[in-house]
Amino acid sequence: MQHLREPDRSFDDDVWSATDQAVARRVTGEPVAYILGRKEFWGLEFAVDARALVPRPESELLVERAVGRLLDRSATVAEPCRVIDCCTGSGCIGVALAHELAVRGRAVALWLADIDPQALQVAHANAERLLSDRQQVQWQVVQSDLLDRVRQIDVDCVVANPPYLTTDCTERTLRQQGWGEPQLALDGGADGLALYPRLLQSAADRLIDGGYLIVECGDDQTARIAAMLRETGYHYVNELRDLAAKPRAVEAQT
Ligand code: GLN
Repeated sequence: MQHLREPDRSFDDDVWSATDQAVARRVTGEPVAYILGRKEFWGLEFAVDARALVPRPESELLVERAVGRLLDRSATVAEPCRVIDCCTGSGCIGVALAHELAVRGRAVALWLADIDPQALQVAHANAERLLSDRQQVQWQVVQSDLLDRVRQIDVDCVVANPPYLTTDCTERTLRQQGWGEPQLALDGGADGLALYPRLLQSAADRLIDGGYLIVECGDDQTARIAAMLRETGYHYVNELRDLAAKPRAVEAQT
């Protein structure tokens, strides 16, 4: 094989065989991020593999909104912003959020929660790599069904990207992909909304008065989630659109 830009240079055999193997994996439908073992999110490099969902660019909306809200309310650096990332998967939302707050001079206490111990290993590795040199960030991972085992109360913000595809859509997506991301991270039951009532209530139980919940959802689900939030007693319910102008998340305050 010849180098196109530098024709005098040829590839070493190991480059050729690594490329060959990557192409063979891609042909099976395996996501590029799993083959490379990394995915950029919020300008940071996250390690990913089949134990966790590949970070999606639209989830950066949650980071952006949470950073804005938390900077608005915390004028001092002394009090850490207390944040829970529920259904954290690779850890991308919580870790990016803590990283950004730290860059802007805020102290952070972060809980990364997921029911899946395999996903939590990925989150742990990402937090260690991206947050360990940030003195002002304290973090821990918690294996927990939603927030059941997160004991912390009085947090300022809960962010969550729970599974929200319908079971039908999950099966279709995984079949089309041909090479699965974890079903647990995608399948939100018959209408995709199975986990939201319990998530909304358990977040409300842990937030300070005036704390923020910011949840991702499908583009046809924001109105139903907004209604659920109002029923659960949240205020200032606000539907958010992603960069493709699709409804993608809902925020609310306790
Ligand atoms: N946005 C993802 C997808 O469409 C779903 C993520 C999720 O269910 N939390 O593949």
